[in-house]
Amino acid sequence: MPDKTSVYILKVGESPPNWYHRIGLQPLYRSDEERDKPIFYHFWCIKGAKEVVVIDTGIPPDQTNNVENYESPVSLLAQIGVDAKKVEKVIITHLHSNHFSGFYLFDNADFYIQENEFRSQAKHNAEKKFLREKALLPPQLQEDLKDLSCVQRIHYVNGDEKITNDINVHLVGGHTPGLQAVSVESASGTVVMCSDIAYLYRNIVEETPVGSFWNLQQACEGLQKVKQIARSERLLLPSHDPLIWDGRYPLLTPRIAKIA
Ligand SMILES: [Zn+2]
Repeated sequence: MPDKTSVYILKVGESPPNWYHRIGLQPLYRSDEERDKPIFYHFWCIKGAKEVVVIDTGIPPDQTNNVENYESPVSLLAQIGVDAKKVEKVIITHLHSNHFSGFYLFDNADFYIQENEFRSQAKHNAEKKFLREKALLPPQLQEDLKDLSCVQRIHYVNGDEKITNDINVHLVGGHTPGLQAVSVESASGTVVMCSDIAYLYRNIVEETPVGSFWNLQQACEGLQKVKQIARSERLLLPSHDPLIWDGRYPLLTPRIAKIA
């Protein structure tokens, strides 16, 4: 089965170059070097022999205020032959807006999310002023969270679990309380979507956490954990790095690359 598994990364858009000044998040812990460069917004799709699994939802068309060079997740998926409305499994790595706010684009999907992530973001964060207003959970997204809990298609995950024969989720935390990385077995080896435990390849290579974290020690341990899951650093995917598009993976279009 793995030799029939394809893994794609899809680019929804880019942040403005001055995103740090607007949002105040650093791609590398306490580093000024990278903070004024744009970051790219991605999501991922795994096409297996029997089913399609989407990792994070991408940013939906009505939430593109801080996004440049935008293309919708629905349009991108169509270009690899995937109808978003027919996808049955979506794994949400964590509850930051650019990772989950397009959930309503997937009418027939079940959403796999760490229970700790959902409960902490939905309850504790909404009750604290800083987390509510600054931690990428503005009022509209709090409404979305309520909607997401209302769709009753949430599968809570606790820790490391198998989602399909070839796909596993791994509790990492660090960046948010219940961030999960996702691994998939392919003919090229084990591919790991690290999500925001690593915005950039530098986070992985230098084992330096991202500047936005919930628990710094977990963020450091999470980087070691994802490196143990994949045998090849080439198959460890950071979430927001423009270097993904430097030719290291074959491009199907300028914004869709085939990782494996
Ligand atoms: Zn995040």
